[in-house]
Amino acid sequence: MTAKIQIFWFRRDLRLEDNAGLYHALTSGLPVLPVFIFDKNILDKLYDRDDARVSFIFNTTECLKKRLQAMGSDLLVKYGDPEDVWRDLLATYNIDTIFLNHDYESYAIQRDSHIRMLAEKHGVRFKSFKDHVIFEKDEVVKDDGKPYTVFTPYKRKWMEKLSSRGHGESSYFLQSYPTEVFHDAFYKQHHKTQRITLEDMGFTPALKELPSDMVPQSVIKNYENQRNFPGITGTSRLGMHFRFGTVSIREKARKAWSLSQTYLSELIWRDFYSMILYHFPHVETGAFRPEYNNIEWNNDENDFLAWCHGKTGYPIVDAGMRELLHTGFMHNRVRMITASFLTKHLLTDWRWGEAWFARHLLDFDLASNNGGWQWAAGSGTDAAPYFRIFSPDAQTEKFDKQRTYIKKWVPELGTPSYPQPIVDHKFARERCLAAYKSALNKKPL
Ligand code: FAD
Repeated sequence: MTAKIQIFWFRRDLRLEDNAGLYHALTSGLPVLPVFIFDKNILDKLYDRDDARVSFIFNTTECLKKRLQAMGSDLLVKYGDPEDVWRDLLATYNIDTIFLNHDYESYAIQRDSHIRMLAEKHGVRFKSFKDHVIFEKDEVVKDDGKPYTVFTPYKRKWMEKLSSRGHGESSYFLQSYPTEVFHDAFYKQHHKTQRITLEDMGFTPALKELPSDMVPQSVIKNYENQRNFPGITGTSRLGMHFRFGTVSIREKARKAWSLSQTYLSELIWRDFYSMILYHFPHVETGAFRPEYNNIEWNNDENDFLAWCHGKTGYPIVDAGMRELLHTGFMHNRVRMITASFLTKHLLTDWRWGEAWFARHLLDFDLASNNGGWQWAAGSGTDAAPYFRIFSPDAQTEKFDKQRTYIKKWVPELGTPSYPQPIVDHKFARERCLAAYKSALNKKPL
């Protein structure tokens, strides 16, 4: 029998520093073999063979591999159905414990519970840790133990909890896990493990530029005043790094504590939506407030396509949709405007828009995307009253007054090649109000 080892299974936590599950593996006393699995069940559902997120994961695993090889170890990279891969790993290695960090999406919860059962059948322990959020599922709940459904009281309790064990950035809950001290504990590989390429998995390298994880301190310092203007770089653009765990959420929360409470608040929104998805999994397919499932959507495919490709004749909407297609990013203010436009002006089911964003956003995260869309449609947790309908022109006046953002993405504005508005603002507003009113007067489905 070969010597016993631990396995650390990388997923949404692709970093060697300040990684909770990895820290616990490295301090367990046995050598740690790090593993990453390209999950075929997820990859097979992607539309685009040049999906930039796959390239990003691939590039990141290549970097991890190089760093681990420099330490005399390696990253074992596999491709397939995780259950099949684990069956092989359990047969090949003498594993004591599989270490990993929690994933809160329903597919992942189910997958992990199958792997746990499989491991336990082999007498292997399965230990999962919190790493992706500051506070998870039921750590911040109401006094009666029920989950919050409104952000402001949730945030208040979140802050209280943070201070319950030490204050601010030195809170126990923001402490870093000093994995680097234990790098000697990685399993020593005497030969390099097999390399799987993007092409082996049917993908090609992305053409999009992938976002850097370096954020100028001035962006966080000025966040409160600059975050709403899409024409400037006023936000951190770290969404993708938080999504794949290439940046530690604890580290950024510590920085936010001293530099910008408004930025910290955005990180709390992230915890909030993750908690909502966990406790109310019905949001994945329907409205958080069931009465909103009664809305009779117009769902015109031509309207939807015009929206997708930035050809609605509403410049701020078109700029946002083009930014998304070209870069995989869209500014938060413009996400709100475009989502509101699709659901309210075009009376199109928010799930259509949600799916389009899921396909194209580099920072796509099921919980935050769903939360954002349900907010825009009025069906979500903190939703603005449905009769408050964003006016694209008024939003432009407020947040892109000099048209800096619009000019960048809609250079043909003012020429005959720019389309006429797809729908009249006043007509759309009245149609939307009527549809919502009629739905909300019916009994929930
Ligand atoms: P910053 O403004 O620098 O904020 C820092 C981080 O805080 C973000 O990276 C993100 O992790 C978190 N954050 C900020 N705002 C929110 C928010 N409202 N809800 C939850 N977390 C937030 N965010 C995603 O991470 N993935 C998505 O798929 C996603 N889809 C959205 C869809 C719609 C319709 C809307 C209205 C919002 C969506 N958001 C989503 C939230 C927000 O727009 C993005 O997090 C933000 O624009 C990412 O840019 P940034 O990293 O520069 O953010």
